[in-house]
Amino acid sequence: MSGPVATVDAPPDIDEPGPPDVPSFEVWTARAADVGGMTVRRALPKRARRTVGAWCFADLFGPAAAADAGMRIGPHPHIGLHTVTWLFDGEVVHRDSLGSEQPIRPGELNLMTAGRGVAHAEVTPADGQGRLHGVQLWVAQPGATRDGDAAFEHHADLPRVDLGAAKATVLAGPLGGARSPARTDTPLVGADVVVDGRADVPLDPAHEHGVLAVDGEAQVDGTALAPGTFAYLGLGRDAIELGGRGRLLLLGGEPFPETLLMWWNFVARTRDEVDAAYADWQARAGRFGEVASELARIDAPRPSWLGLR
Ligand code: MN
Repeated sequence: MSGPVATVDAPPDIDEPGPPDVPSFEVWTARAADVGGMTVRRALPKRARRTVGAWCFADLFGPAAAADAGMRIGPHPHIGLHTVTWLFDGEVVHRDSLGSEQPIRPGELNLMTAGRGVAHAEVTPADGQGRLHGVQLWVAQPGATRDGDAAFEHHADLPRVDLGAAKATVLAGPLGGARSPARTDTPLVGADVVVDGRADVPLDPAHEHGVLAVDGEAQVDGTALAPGTFAYLGLGRDAIELGGRGRLLLLGGEPFPETLLMWWNFVARTRDEVDAAYADWQARAGRFGEVASELARIDAPRPSWLGLR
């Protein structure tokens, strides 16, 4: 999906990354945001907590069960990030300016790398309307790859890890002896965890982590998390204790060492980079390519620091 869309979701301030809390337990409720007319719950970024590892954006959409439930996000650009799409219910077709056309269904992962520029559209097909539940996550690319080529991956068969009362599907990085085949440019982990009783999930103490409650009444370290709640766990933990019954999304990684400037759908470092991406998208420059979509292109908002014309 299209990400921030409204500029208010990614204010043009540059946050100092600062040291992650060591170790800590911090809980917040994802805020409502509008993406293409669809209300989502946005857990990241948060003003005081912009990233968890390289994870810099987390939207939870649905569950929706209605005749008009579905995603209709027209072509829009990205730079400097991977989009990671994971569904619990429903279907979305991804089309991008590389020529990729890939339906995604529950249990499958779409991972698009923007590098210096890509565009995509995400639409629920006509015969897939009526249900939608999932997440879209962004991973910031490091300096070493963020000016590189765009790419797209689809993974229909991800490793599963049995942690006793918790069953995990590994979306990214390593967990419990398994490793996702999905591309990662920095050390990180992502997993879908279904818990039914008490279970310990092993963590890398060199990573900070976050847990997004998706549904049910799962507990993290004895704290019940309602769906749409996000718990941040600082560095230095080798496990978390899960309990209750529900579904959680585990995100983690080495604290991201570079200061990000996030504006609309762009993850950059400087205003000049955002200005150039904005101008190139509005001018339909070749940098972003074209997406074969029946939906209209989404205009980029003019960066606020450019002032009024
Ligand atoms: Mn997008």
